[in-house]
Amino acid sequence: MKFSNPFAKKCCEICKTEYDAYASSCPECGKKNSRKDGVLPFAEDKILGPYRELLCFIVGWALFQYLGFVVSLIFQAFGMKPIGASFISAVNYTVYGVLFVFLLSIIAPKIPSLFSRFLTKDTLRGLFVFAAIVAFDTIWGSLIIRIGATTNKNQSAVNDIVSYSPLLSLLFVGIVGPICEEITYRLGLFTFLKRINKVLAFIAVTIFFGAIHLHDITSLNEWLSLPSYIFAGFAFTYAYDKWGIGASIIAHVLTNSLAVLVSLL
Ligand SMILES: [Zn+2]
Repeated sequence: MKFSNPFAKKCCEICKTEYDAYASSCPECGKKNSRKDGVLPFAEDKILGPYRELLCFIVGWALFQYLGFVVSLIFQAFGMKPIGASFISAVNYTVYGVLFVFLLSIIAPKIPSLFSRFLTKDTLRGLFVFAAIVAFDTIWGSLIIRIGATTNKNQSAVNDIVSYSPLLSLLFVGIVGPICEEITYRLGLFTFLKRINKVLAFIAVTIFFGAIHLHDITSLNEWLSLPSYIFAGFAFTYAYDKWGIGASIIAHVLTNSLAVLVSLL
């Protein structure tokens, strides 16, 4: 396995501008990156650069861990009781809202180029990824019910929140949350690790994405639903790598929105 320096730069043959060695073209003159030393430029034309990628991951993952705790302390200081679906919803939606603003501000200068392929058929390919995830979950779900699985903790927490405020949960759990996660794990973690090694990036992001959805490692149910998260994590990463951030966002938003709608039934 070959590992490369994620911060590598290259000098443009035409205009001599130094730029991100993993970008597919020179940002100044547009000359195609002709790197042929085994490190392929990204299929995704525009990338954030290694520092913003790391920042997206740190904000989206590490800050997310503590933000919930801080917001819940603030709410309690204002007299809210830390129990029930209303409190959990208020904390979760505030965290997602704050995170969304932070992440968007990190990627802000690159939004026009990141989403330049958004209105193309590449984005629609996210629909196939969504269909594959639904198919996997249907088959896997019916298998594990036969061996005695019940609703996992992640799912039952989601159910409580959804029935408390269906529209807000569709907005935050179905749309804002997945966009935050795509910025954190695909634009951030995956893109950064892919600079080092593509196989490593796929394995690490898929496992990590599964692990963040495991809340109680003593619960058999949670372990049984792990393959669903691992499959979805891999599928979103594949979609991003092949067709860009539009495809992985569409697939993730549809997957989560479907879960919200199903738990309303
Ligand atoms: Zn140039």
